[in-house]
Amino acid sequence: MALTGLEIYKHLPKTNCKDCGFPTCLAFAMKVAVKQVGLDKCPHVTPEASAALEAASRPPIQLVTIGTGAGEIKIGNETQLYRHEEKFHRPTAIAVRISDRWDEPAIVERAKAIGGLAFDRVGVRIRVNLVAVENESGDAARFEKAAKLASEGSGLACVLMSPKAENLRRAAAAISGQRPLLYISDPAQAEAAAQIAKDEHCPLAVRADGLEALAELTGKMAGLGVEQIVLDPGTRGVKATLEALSKVRRLALKNFRPLGYPAMAVTTSPDPTMQAIEASTYVAKYAGIVVTDACQPWQLLPVLTTRQDIYTDPQKPVAVEPKLYPVGAVTQDSPLLVTTNFSLSYYSVEGEVEASRVPAYILAVDTEGTSVLTAWASDKFNADTITKAMKKAEVEGKVAHRTLVLPGFVAVLSAGVEDESGWSVQIGPKEASGIPSYLKKQWKPR
Ligand code: SF4
Repeated sequence: MALTGLEIYKHLPKTNCKDCGFPTCLAFAMKVAVKQVGLDKCPHVTPEASAALEAASRPPIQLVTIGTGAGEIKIGNETQLYRHEEKFHRPTAIAVRISDRWDEPAIVERAKAIGGLAFDRVGVRIRVNLVAVENESGDAARFEKAAKLASEGSGLACVLMSPKAENLRRAAAAISGQRPLLYISDPAQAEAAAQIAKDEHCPLAVRADGLEALAELTGKMAGLGVEQIVLDPGTRGVKATLEALSKVRRLALKNFRPLGYPAMAVTTSPDPTMQAIEASTYVAKYAGIVVTDACQPWQLLPVLTTRQDIYTDPQKPVAVEPKLYPVGAVTQDSPLLVTTNFSLSYYSVEGEVEASRVPAYILAVDTEGTSVLTAWASDKFNADTITKAMKKAEVEGKVAHRTLVLPGFVAVLSAGVEDESGWSVQIGPKEASGIPSYLKKQWKPR
């Protein structure tokens, strides 16, 4: 939790010597609190005070790293209950489950499919992050083999799930150096698993029935020297899991250190649609990792879309660069459509232009990432801003005609744009879905 200026001030020498460049210790403390200057700028802070400040300013939820290299995933380090106060920082890692009961071809096929579960949405690549290998067989050799196949086949970091610590050791050794998350489902074997996590330099997920038991268990794990811990509150089913995840987050933010770790949830519904709904629910409410059987694109796209939306900054509209975008093999006779630089507006238009197979230019006007009607209502999308955007993008040199297409909802701007720009204006459809029909049947330059 961030410290206030006064809390920091209590640990400073209070001599007002000005060596830090500030007139008083209090002024310096205020700047440190808002992270405009580092504590190291005061040469007189004692090591004890420095250590105390560092401990007090530690994030309430431990940062946990799984995997290595390009597949590395970081979860935790969140500081808020509500995203309107500050954006959530570490998107939930989605792990798709593989059972070591399956035969080898089935494991390889599923692992490859999981590794390919990625989608482009509003200009961003969203994907599944982890493959979870479950030791359902209870057999160490099968688990070890499945871990290796899943890791190689998917190219993703792994979660290794077993009730037996010794089986975890075998599987972790099989993919040694790849920093899988070791998940021990039997609390009685957690201490043995802690030793393996330390030996293999892996994070450890522990499960206990109830938050009190979980807090006790993490205390033991921390005492054994395991720093990176993931919590499984042991609940299954939406209601109980949602309650547990919310309680863990609340307690962690109150600096209850035994639960100050990212939490994980496991989907259990036998219904494929409910699997996706369950996973999306846990993404929305505080899961650091969701382990799911959902493996079809139609199941995972809504889960990943939920994650993308939850982890954007609500105080900053998602925007594309304001500029002229050619879509398809454009020529000087291609239509010129105007929209705003709000991502959802731009990509809706782009998607429909692509679907129409009519190559066209899209001019995304800088409206600070707001949608067409919002920007029009706040006077950011008007004759002046549209004309300026046209000039900046040098559209005159790109198309031979002098006709642009305005979104149907802002037809009221057409006379002003014609006066200001000297171009003809055509009124396009109100909804982006009408663009293909409009481009094929109605658009023609004047
Ligand atoms: S250098 Fe340290 S002791 Fe001196 S004024 Fe700045 S904060 Fe205070």
